[in-house]
Amino acid sequence: MIRLAEMIGQELASTVLSRAILDDRVAHAYGFVGPEGIGKMTAALAFAAALNCESHEPGDACGKCVSCRMIDQKGLPDVEIISPDGAQTKIDQMREMRRTAQFAPVRGKRKVVIVEQADTLNENSASAILKILEEPPPYLVIILLVRNPAMLLPTIRSRCLVVRFAYVNVRELAQALVERFDAKQEEAEFLAAFSEGRPGIAISLLGNESFFAWRNRIAELAERIVNSDLRAGLRLSEDLQSLASAETGDGITQRSAMRSALTALLQRYRDLLSISVHNSDGRGDPGRISRAIEALLWARRAVEGNANLQLTADVLMLRLVR
Ligand SMILES: [Zn+2]
Repeated sequence: MIRLAEMIGQELASTVLSRAILDDRVAHAYGFVGPEGIGKMTAALAFAAALNCESHEPGDACGKCVSCRMIDQKGLPDVEIISPDGAQTKIDQMREMRRTAQFAPVRGKRKVVIVEQADTLNENSASAILKILEEPPPYLVIILLVRNPAMLLPTIRSRCLVVRFAYVNVRELAQALVERFDAKQEEAEFLAAFSEGRPGIAISLLGNESFFAWRNRIAELAERIVNSDLRAGLRLSEDLQSLASAETGDGITQRSAMRSALTALLQRYRDLLSISVHNSDGRGDPGRISRAIEALLWARRAVEGNANLQLTADVLMLRLVR
């Protein structure tokens, strides 16, 4: 398991949580705020382990005692994870949580309830949590994992101690992937950048051969774009769209796949830029590559918004091949 002190690039969050234990000022409700894959669940489990650890590690878990090992295997009854049932966390799940929250911890010191994607709580589910928080049992800690704090009802937000999770410095993440996950340097650097500093995403792609095959096809596409002229633009746009489609599947929408493809392409262009800057043999024009990077950033923002994907890809390629 990962201890608070071992979280990659989340010193602020792990210090806040450690400090709370050391000072015996643990709140009843936390809102862990940050994007997907940043480490909210990892931190919630590390915090739960630190709260229930049976050895005397100050402000953190030992990672070795029975309680820590049970949490690692998601087998400690005092730590409960509530995931959305479909698109929403249902009122029944919250009622059940409210019922079980009344029972003291079975083994540990604290009962920890981790609510995943708490942005999906509707009015009814949220009010069930609020009712618990009006008079929380002394042992209860509720941790709400939230991607978009604006989606959290203000009544809930005002009751939570908010802990923010920041994007991890890309170099620091790459280094951690090499040192702790035995990744190769090149793979680590690519994943750190591609995940934009989100350790969960980077780790999930480590050693994933089909992902790297896909990444190589994106790099080939970049090569072709650089060597093409305007006439090839729309053809390249189709190629980009079909490469993006190859990445759709399990919960990955066309839009998020296109975003991934653009991020991988962007990464390739950043490499090209650094090659062109460091090479004096005139390979690649840094000015042109910089403009291409601008165009890619524009396209990615458009895709993140509600822009038509095909149109965005078409316009992008026409800007890239010029
Ligand atoms: Zn322990």
